[in-house]
Amino acid sequence: MIPDSHPRSRSLKTRHALIDGVKNDIVAESGLIAHGRGEAFDYLLGEKTHVFALNAIKAAAALLKTANHPVISVNGNTTILCGKEMVEFSNVSGIPLEINLFYRRPERYRAIYSYLSNLGGKHILGADETKFTELPNLESFRRVVDARGILIADVVMVPLEDGDRTEALVKLGKKVITVDLNPLSRTALASDITIVDNIQRVFPLLQKFFFEMDNETAHEILENYDNSFIIKEALETISSAWKVDLNEKFEEIRKQKGMT
Ligand code: ATP
Ligand code: MG
Repeated sequence: MIPDSHPRSRSLKTRHALIDGVKNDIVAESGLIAHGRGEAFDYLLGEKTHVFALNAIKAAAALLKTANHPVISVNGNTTILCGKEMVEFSNVSGIPLEINLFYRRPERYRAIYSYLSNLGGKHILGADETKFTELPNLESFRRVVDARGILIADVVMVPLEDGDRTEALVKLGKKVITVDLNPLSRTALASDITIVDNIQRVFPLLQKFFFEMDNETAHEILENYDNSFIIKEALETISSAWKVDLNEKFEEIRKQKGMT
């Protein structure tokens, strides 16, 4: 039991939800390690959505809006971290969610399918064996995709993705949107739109922009969008996190502990 009064209670609850996800076959064990890497960057970002992330989310909304065949790729971590929000966005936008796993086992994609269905998900791909096919240029299990989804998609949103598959999708001529707290990961650098933010904060904003935006605005946003500028801003923000006033920080901690 984690008390709400604990200063890191949200983060601790998330960790426990992911651990339960491992027990229920939804999250891969290495997903816990990937989460830890993400958490470290989120700490340095002050655990908030910065302007560069907001601008990338707006561009993502614009690209999804103007796509012919958009798809959102889902894995175990994203299911636990923001399953409810993804299902809501998918249901109201009609954009399908496709289960796509690096550590692929039938128990896992079935468990994720049940979890998302129980949340009310209406457009979930990647769990019907009769629709499985393969991407040509990828060795990992993530090459297995749904013939109705990623295979024919022109825009793929791949949050918390591995670099190899991002590069494979780009090479196939697809436009790629990612959410990745590490602005220097291969995925962040290879994507067309990189949202450097915690996935737990992204979908409600994406949904808001998606429905507020008309097509003309969407085209305008995409014309003016520069992903390398966004990544640079994210890096600068993370770098400036180290330039804290240490005396102020010590004082803060002393006060929290009732030491002064
Ligand atoms: P790459 O393969 O792209 O070079 P990597 O090998 O460092 O990246 P992976 O484990 O392949 O990392 O991908 C997981 C990525 O997801 C990491 O970059 C991590 O920072 C990011 N990540 C983890 N948790 C979150 C989260 N909650 N929100 C956004 N990003 C996250
Ligand atoms: Mg990787």
